[in-house]
Amino acid sequence: MANHLYDSLFAPHAGQDRPFLILPDGDRISYAAFLARAAQFAHAITDAGLAPGDRLAVQVEKSPEALAIYAACVQAGVVFLPLNTGYTCDELSYFVENSGARLLVCDPARADALRGMAEGQGAQLLTLGADGTGSLADAAAGKPDSFDTVARHADDLAAFLYTSGTTGRSKGAMLTQDNLLSNAQTLVDFWRFTEDDVLLHALPIFHTHGLFVATNTTLAAGSTMIFLPKFDPDAMIERLPQATAMMGVPTFYTRLLDDDRLTRDLTRNMRLFVSGSAPLLADTHEKFAARTGHRILERYGMTETNMNTSNPYDGERRPGTVGQPLPGVEVKVTDPETGKTLPQGETGQVEVRGPNVFKGYWQMPEKTAAELREDGFFITGDLGRYDEDGYLQIVGRDKDLIISGGYNIYPKEIELVLDDQPGVLESAVIGVPHADFGETPLAVIVPEKGMQPDLDAIAEAVRTALARYKHPRDFRVVQELPRNTMGKVQKNVLRDTYRDAFT
Ligand code: ATP
Ligand code: MG
Repeated sequence: MANHLYDSLFAPHAGQDRPFLILPDGDRISYAAFLARAAQFAHAITDAGLAPGDRLAVQVEKSPEALAIYAACVQAGVVFLPLNTGYTCDELSYFVENSGARLLVCDPARADALRGMAEGQGAQLLTLGADGTGSLADAAAGKPDSFDTVARHADDLAAFLYTSGTTGRSKGAMLTQDNLLSNAQTLVDFWRFTEDDVLLHALPIFHTHGLFVATNTTLAAGSTMIFLPKFDPDAMIERLPQATAMMGVPTFYTRLLDDDRLTRDLTRNMRLFVSGSAPLLADTHEKFAARTGHRILERYGMTETNMNTSNPYDGERRPGTVGQPLPGVEVKVTDPETGKTLPQGETGQVEVRGPNVFKGYWQMPEKTAAELREDGFFITGDLGRYDEDGYLQIVGRDKDLIISGGYNIYPKEIELVLDDQPGVLESAVIGVPHADFGETPLAVIVPEKGMQPDLDAIAEAVRTALARYKHPRDFRVVQELPRNTMGKVQKNVLRDTYRDAFT
């Protein structure tokens, strides 16, 4: 019997000398060598007693070996559960307990701190360092470099991926083999990936963007990745001329734009820049196009669904929008009260259905039932609207909606006005408690480098542009917005900071 995901993403590359990964020092790891390593890991984890369907939690630095654990899990039918390297020992304890992981692979430096917790939860502990050494590597050394792939159905779980925790505690999204494979194949076609592509990869591999969008697309196309441990402008500038494609979060693009070495010539071999995980400002899109001649392709997805929409490869890439539904994916905007589809132009909740949509949240049947409708549509928690040409705009999260004196206020609408003002780099509008109105909007503004925005002029501009109930009650200037590792603005942190602003 077959293993749907392994047979499509990995097996076709067996024995191939073509490079899969190019490392910072220029070393190349061929597909053949990578798969041989993964097979050894598959032996090590099954020898440790893991059976198909068991969970393997991993919190390790980005490395080729860390990626080989993913391949090993798929081959052995074990559910892969990567964890953010920023999580503390206490946070890890929650994920290990919550997932019922049978094995935790961590950095050697953390082993002593984590062993007691892991064993208390019935999980074994093995280690893997950034340099590829550790007790997992020891256990794999000398094992055969091929492994009998375990049979798995398209509907069997391949991964548990925890959401970023931007709006609350992270939830474990159960993703099947076909959720991952269908999306990878769609993206290869839609974004035209081939064996000739070289993807510049500086994203973390514990998140859907760097792991599934970037890596699975590379595997499905048989492309090569320049595999950098993290985003570092010098390394990016050095490597861009050797790449044909890059995937990044918006902060990658703003940081590249801050560097004078980013030029049209530097990006001459590139054919595609993709952005996602957080909104890309239209201003960033335009500046990048002016400097390099490349229009960044913005797409929209999430842990629970992989990718849902994308700007077109050939047609107009419209700044401030996330494009249209990908082939095979349905995306509708509905009335939160009735669940009915809203007419074009109206803002409502974004719902998604397709082979990419997850099976539900691990051990959260009520949350799953509330967000995953019986007809297969997933209520994403994002608010959006379709423009006149069918491009989707993400307006924000439903949890960030401000309800002031009974009126709904979409922070994005105010942010767009603020971002347009002289001296303003970016902004975030949040709802803070207010005795009369329940909550009221507060604007947090980040000035352009070396500028001092004129707050009176900004308040005047807002008064001209927006109805009175939407006017921010006050403005605060900060040097930067709080962001998590994926470059997402943490509005909950801002709400906390300014909780007492008007009480
Ligand atoms: P949590 O669900 O735990 O609060 P999270 O939603 O941030 O965290 P992810 O699954 O990593 O966790 O992120 C998905 C979210 O990122 C989407 O629901 C959306 O809000 C946002 N997002 C992704 N791409 C874009 C984009 N191009 N434009 C705007 N928002 C985006
Ligand atoms: Mg989410």
